[in-house]
Amino acid sequence: MIIILNPGATEENLDTLVANIEERGYGVHISRGVEKTIVGCIGAPDEDKAIVVEQLSSFPFVERVVPILKPYKIVGREFHPDKSVIKVGNVEIGGQRVVVIAGPCTVENEEQMIETAKAVKAAGATILRGGAFKPSTSPYSFHGLGEDALKILQSAKELTGLPIVTEVMDPRDVELVSKYADILQIGTRNMTNFSLLNTVGEIRKPVMLKRGMSATIEEWLQAAEYIAHRGNYEIILCERGIRTFETFTRNTFDVSAIPAVLSLSHLPIIADPSHGTGKWNLVTPVALAAIAAGADGLMVEVHPHPEQALKDGAQSLRPEAFAAMMAQVAAVAQAVGRSA
Ligand code: PEP
Ligand code: MN
Repeated sequence: MIIILNPGATEENLDTLVANIEERGYGVHISRGVEKTIVGCIGAPDEDKAIVVEQLSSFPFVERVVPILKPYKIVGREFHPDKSVIKVGNVEIGGQRVVVIAGPCTVENEEQMIETAKAVKAAGATILRGGAFKPSTSPYSFHGLGEDALKILQSAKELTGLPIVTEVMDPRDVELVSKYADILQIGTRNMTNFSLLNTVGEIRKPVMLKRGMSATIEEWLQAAEYIAHRGNYEIILCERGIRTFETFTRNTFDVSAIPAVLSLSHLPIIADPSHGTGKWNLVTPVALAAIAAGADGLMVEVHPHPEQALKDGAQSLRPEAFAAMMAQVAAVAQAVGRSA
């Protein structure tokens, strides 16, 4: 349930309420909005909810108590009506400006990564991506360079000033990846890896949670709830396409998920048109559709020589195509009242 405090409620009132909830053995999450403070009370058993609502409503500094019926609570709009903005260095994700994350599917070597980093920065990208631990459908595929790749990403960051996002697949690697990454990515195949979600919930760094390839929007938001439930509220959602009967594209990019998620959750959402389509020539049109639909940003795969890429060359933009996309993104962002 959520407890909405009167506009005049004091810090002392808040402490009284928090102590009361904690004495009952329930979890407390505080959301300070521009106008109102909202306290989430998590964990009351169904049979006790009615009486708890009544008791908490009796505090004079409480405006109202509302039970939350949705299966996700902390990440839902009811608990936190204002949009969340996640700060990564100087970059804000979820604010007025659309954020573009770009880089290769996977870090192959220092030269490839540095060349890509310079090119995407020159074209206006604000965050750099690159896989170090790669999830692969086949055990025989390339699985990434591990820590060596993280070190290369660090050099690229030092050179360009761009923060880094990279995937973590195993709870045992979360500490290592956190040392290098500014944002930890949870890939589609791990959206329901609950021990991984719990582990990244314990750290205090932003997490980018990709939609499971066969996950519903509600399942995806519940996966985000796992992370938030452990105290990490810095979550960025990423729509990357879902499996349908269509095989022409690698996945079916669900553009409707963007406004749907924005109405249900306060978390920022970005779009990955690269994995969403699997074809480089479809990346820009889908990216533009995502921005038009309200996405807070994009994550796009860029490779200086896609014909030599170890992974996902077919969906990677060459630097020139990426720069052309950026100009179009800026125009669409402006058309929907944002900047790029
Ligand atoms: C990726 O972004 O590198 C990736 C593997 O994406 P997904 O988890 O969406 O397949
Ligand atoms: Mn990829």
